[in-house]
Amino acid sequence: MPDMETIVSLCKRRGFVFQGSEIYGGIGGFWDYGPLGVELKNNIKRAWWKAMVQDRDDVVGIDAAIIMNPNVWVASGHVATFSDPLVECKNCHKRFREDQLTSTACPNCGNRNTMTEARQFNLLFKTHVGPVEDDAAVAYLRPETAQAMFVNYENVRESMRKKIPFGIAQIGRSFRNEIITGNFIFRDREFEQMEMEFFLKPGTEDEWHDRWRDERLAWWKKTFNISDNNIRVKVIRREATTIIGPDPDDVKEEKPPHYSKGNYDLEYRFPMGWSEIEGIASRTDYDLSSHMKLSGKDLSYFDDETKQKYIPYVVEPAMGVDRAVLVALFENYCEEQVKNEKRVVLRLPKALAPFKAAVLPLARNRPEIVEIAKKITAELKPHMMAMYDDTAAIGKLYRRQDEIGTPFCITVDHQTALPSDEKYDGKVTIRDRDSMEQIRVPVDQVKDVLLSRLVE
Ligand code: ATP
Repeated sequence: MPDMETIVSLCKRRGFVFQGSEIYGGIGGFWDYGPLGVELKNNIKRAWWKAMVQDRDDVVGIDAAIIMNPNVWVASGHVATFSDPLVECKNCHKRFREDQLTSTACPNCGNRNTMTEARQFNLLFKTHVGPVEDDAAVAYLRPETAQAMFVNYENVRESMRKKIPFGIAQIGRSFRNEIITGNFIFRDREFEQMEMEFFLKPGTEDEWHDRWRDERLAWWKKTFNISDNNIRVKVIRREATTIIGPDPDDVKEEKPPHYSKGNYDLEYRFPMGWSEIEGIASRTDYDLSSHMKLSGKDLSYFDDETKQKYIPYVVEPAMGVDRAVLVALFENYCEEQVKNEKRVVLRLPKALAPFKAAVLPLARNRPEIVEIAKKITAELKPHMMAMYDDTAAIGKLYRRQDEIGTPFCITVDHQTALPSDEKYDGKVTIRDRDSMEQIRVPVDQVKDVLLSRLVE
């Protein structure tokens, strides 16, 4: 597996991820996705939405406002308890999360026993709504997307005539004023989440919790092509924390969050160690009950068939898109030797690749070649992300496409375009990123060949 530096440098050099506001020196915990990053991210989001909403009968989507009535965050517990223990080194004045310190020495200046007592630091970002900046106007940027599903539960159920069990999914930005950000886009202050609240009958939560754990694990493996060695499940229960999967002894005891009866955390083997990429929480009726109490609205469910009335329980698979981008890059980055040269290739599953095809003219000074190459690009564009590139010699153009994971390169040469060429055949070369196999295909069949090969 590559180290973090290799991935950070690839991301910057090739336009996946840039430091936010870089020309002003950046701003900690905020990142900008470049032209390739936005494609990769969109493809990940599309894959999730397809698996979670489009392919299912029992989940529907919403897209809610980022700023919600502040009472939402009172009911959810975030105003009172969404905090991390903050300590400051009395010597160098750097701040740390106490629960992340591994020794009594300051990680910055190395002095021992210089930390202040911990105080709880609330991670909510505050702002004001409207022209008056008084306490009555305080609002928060949402720290998770989940609460919008709870407060819209009744609207969605009624308008879509849904019966329990069913789920509500959302993709959107979340904000947390993390004490320490880091590991590139792993821990940010602004990030994107994909969360789904699955409302179910009390008593069936354990069964659904296991089912969603299995579904989500399978989705990660398939979507990112993750080997069994690099992903595992951390089982967090009140009694104990255990691991299903690799390195079972490498685990720190944890307690489930305040709203949860138990968590399955999916973890990926990053260079900095096993770290969470998705949390699957068994949230009981914690959220709906709290909102019922504070809003005064009845959110209980009446089951027509059994004539029972209850407050639904919830199982929530919640993942971060930015961490998924990192997984896609780490898992699929390969360096290999080809004819004594280093080849860097991003073996992204085709559905995730930012560009599906690059059309490359072998000679950019031959108008006949360039014309055909541009025509093929134009034919491909309505169907897939495709680019025309003539800014270097062919060997270099191939290497550039390998490095960003483009599954297919189409080369237009003399044989394709010049009837005067003795080997003229009107065909192009299609080169496969992974096998580097090359096939000759008539110009008018390129689109269909690519479309059939893009289906995995
Ligand atoms: P962590 O323990 O790493 O802080 P968490 O348990 O607080 O994460 P959840 O509240 O369960 O995270 O959020 C669900 C998902 O959202 C996480 O699995 C992660 O992928 C993503 N996520 C949470 N916080 C951040 C962050 N600061 N930056 C990027 N992604 C995040």
